[in-house]
Amino acid sequence: MLIALLPGDGIGPEVIAEARRVLETLALPDMRFEEAPVGGAAYKASGHPLPQATLNLAKRADAILFGAVGDPDCDTLERHLRPEQAILGLRKELELFANLRPATLFPELADASALRPEVASQIDMVIVRELNGDVYFGEKGMRKTADGKREGYDIMSYNEDEVRRIARVGFETAMARGKKLCSVDKANVLETSQLWRDVVIETAKEFPKVALSHMYVDNAAMQLVRNPGQFDVIVTGNLFGDILSDQASMCAGSIGMLPSASLDASQKGLYEPIHGSAPDIAGQGKANPLATILSAAMMLRYSLGQAEAADRIEAAVAAALAAGARTPDLGGSLRTREMGDAVLAALT
Ligand code: NAD
Repeated sequence: MLIALLPGDGIGPEVIAEARRVLETLALPDMRFEEAPVGGAAYKASGHPLPQATLNLAKRADAILFGAVGDPDCDTLERHLRPEQAILGLRKELELFANLRPATLFPELADASALRPEVASQIDMVIVRELNGDVYFGEKGMRKTADGKREGYDIMSYNEDEVRRIARVGFETAMARGKKLCSVDKANVLETSQLWRDVVIETAKEFPKVALSHMYVDNAAMQLVRNPGQFDVIVTGNLFGDILSDQASMCAGSIGMLPSASLDASQKGLYEPIHGSAPDIAGQGKANPLATILSAAMMLRYSLGQAEAADRIEAAVAAALAAGARTPDLGGSLRTREMGDAVLAALT
C-alpha cells in the first residue's frame, strides 16, 4: 500500500506529521509512504503548485493524504500559479468527483459547538458534495461592459451525467446510513439547479428504500443551525456544498475536527482535513491535528480496506478527548505534537 503524503503549506506539514505517526504506530503490513511538495511550497521550490512529479506520485499511490494549501506570499500570483490551484488540479486530474464530509459531534465537545449543546448533540450527517463541476470549473473571466465598467463572470453549469453520478453516491451513502437523502439546490432561480433536481428525482427510482427530500440552499443553511438533527445525508453541488459543509463543521465543533474524502469512481481517494492552511497559527504548534488523523482513518476505511484499523484510530481520538486532551481551538492548551501524543497513548 503506497500512501502519498502531500503536506502542503501553513499548518499542513504540522498536522500531516501527526497523522503519519498514528499510521506508523498501527504498523500495517506493506504500508509505505512517499512525500511530495504541493501548493505554495511546491511553487517556491519548482515554480508550479502541482509539479508533474507530485501529480505522478498521486496517480501511482493507492491513496493520498493531503494537508492544506494556501500561502499569503502567493496571493498576488496569476491565478493558475496560486497554491489553491493544486487541489483543484488534483481533483480534476484524478477525477475525484465525490467529496464526503461526515459531520458528527463527539459528545465530549458539545460545548465547543457554535450551537446549544442539546441541538449540537443531534448532529450526525454526511454531506456529499460534487467536486468536478459547477461554477468553479465553468468559463470565467473579466470583461468590460458596454459602458466601460469592469465585470467579472463565472459560468455555472452541470450536465446530467455529472449530476447522476454524484446523486448515486448520495443515495448509496444514505443506504449505508439512515436511508434519508436531502438534495440541496436553488431550483426556484437557477436552471442548473432545475436540471439537478430533475436528475436526482430520476435517480431516486434506483433507490426505492431511500426517502428523498429537496431543500433550497438558503433554507438548508437555516435548517443546519435550527435543527441539524433532521439531516442524515445531504447531496449538493460544488458551490453550495463548499459553504454548507463549512457551516456544518462549526455546528459540529471546531473546524480542526472534521475529516473529508474525495473519491473517484473506483473508491481511490484523496483524504484531507476540511480546514485550510491557517496561516494565522502556522508554525506555532497550535494546530489541531485531529481532522487530519480522522482523515487518515477515513482513508483506511474507504480506499485501503482496513476498517478495523480505522475503528482503532477513531476510538483513540474519542478516548483522547474523553481524557481531556484539547488544543486551543477546543478551549485547551495542548500543542499539536502533544495532541498527537494523546492519540498515540490511547492507541497503544
Ligand atoms: P482556514 O481553514 O485555514 O482557517 C480558518 C480559521 O480556522 C483560522 O482562524 C485558523 O487558525 C483556524 N483553523 C483552521 N484549521 C485549524 C486547525 N487544524 N486547528 C486550529 N485552528 C484551525 O481558512 P482560511 O483562513 O479561510 O484560509 C487560509 C488559507 O487556506 C487560504 O489560502 C485558503 O485558500 C486556504 N484553504 C485551503 C484549503 C485546502 O487546502 N483544501 C481549504 C480551505 C482554505
